[in-house]
Amino acid sequence: MKTIIFDLGGVLLDWNPEYVYLNEFNGNRKKMKWFFNNICTSEWNEQQDGGKLMIEATNERIKLFPEYKKLIKMFYGRWEEMLKDEISGTVDILHMLKNKGFKLIALTNWSAEKLTKMLKISDYYSDRFGRVDFLFNPIEIKNYSKSVTQLYGKGYVLTGNSSEFLDPVFSSGVTFATESALLAAKLITKELQNEIVNWEVEYSDYIKKGVNVFTTYIKEWYNGNLQKLFFHKPENPEIIKQICGVLAGYVWDETNPFVKNHHRLIKTLAHIIDMENETK
Ligand SMILES: Cc1cc2nc3c(=O)[nH]c(=O)nc-3n(C[C@H](O)[C@H](O)[C@H](O)COP(=O)(O)OP(=O)(O)OC[C@H]3O[C@@H](n4cnc5c(N)ncnc54)[C@H](O)[C@@H]3O)c2cc1C
Repeated sequence: MKTIIFDLGGVLLDWNPEYVYLNEFNGNRKKMKWFFNNICTSEWNEQQDGGKLMIEATNERIKLFPEYKKLIKMFYGRWEEMLKDEISGTVDILHMLKNKGFKLIALTNWSAEKLTKMLKISDYYSDRFGRVDFLFNPIEIKNYSKSVTQLYGKGYVLTGNSSEFLDPVFSSGVTFATESALLAAKLITKELQNEIVNWEVEYSDYIKKGVNVFTTYIKEWYNGNLQKLFFHKPENPEIIKQICGVLAGYVWDETNPFVKNHHRLIKTLAHIIDMENETK
């Protein structure tokens, strides 16, 4: 190993919108969290990490929620104040690795606009990164997901990663690789025995059904809803069992309500937990 890649926000540099908003909400965390969950959401902010101009995003949001104009304007207007100092533990590791001769690369989802702003705000940042050229203009990678439009055709069928790759964190990869390969083998055998195979229904629709379930869980993980269920107290063993079933790859088991109602169940439960927390 010769090269090590570091993220910036939350890893080397302490960035947190709470540094601005907690004060604006007079220390009321519940109100601030509601604002982050509903008005200036992380999904919205990620669009700007992907390169959308902050001014454009701000104006669009104000149009949607005019009553929050002042607070929305602060999100990028006071973005610099959300950046504090280095996160000393990880920066210490960075220095140690540099002294040992490793090549260090910063990988960040901050857009060029944000990065340039960040570099200007203090000597600390500009000394370290100010003279470093961008290797390329930042590009947007929204997620790891990759899929093809057609899973089968004359003389071929795509299985595993060649058909769908969702996310390296979830166990979807091995589930789809084994499930799709086994199903494809069975259907090919059927066809070789001169039986008619409806590849659209028997293969494509089936695989997509599982993909859709996994996709919901991946999305609900990255927007934080799934974690709300994981860490909710008191624990509900039946719910834990059912969710574990999905994550273990049983994404076609429609006797499990967390498969059958995947589109709304996580969202609804997370919403109930939020309401419960608000009344505490
Ligand atoms: C870092 C990382 C972590 C992951 N963690 C998980 C996890 O925790 N859980 C999980 O479920 N999934 C995980 N995945 C995904 C999972 O590994 C894959 O989804 C799964 O291995 C896909 O299996 P596959 O058989 O479709 O493809 P592969 O395992 O990629 O097999 C394809 C094979 O084809 C060979 N090949 C390619 N081209 C040719 C050619 N022209 N001729 C001959 N052979 C060729 C390749 O050498 C390879 O051996 C992870 C992936 C990565 C990268």
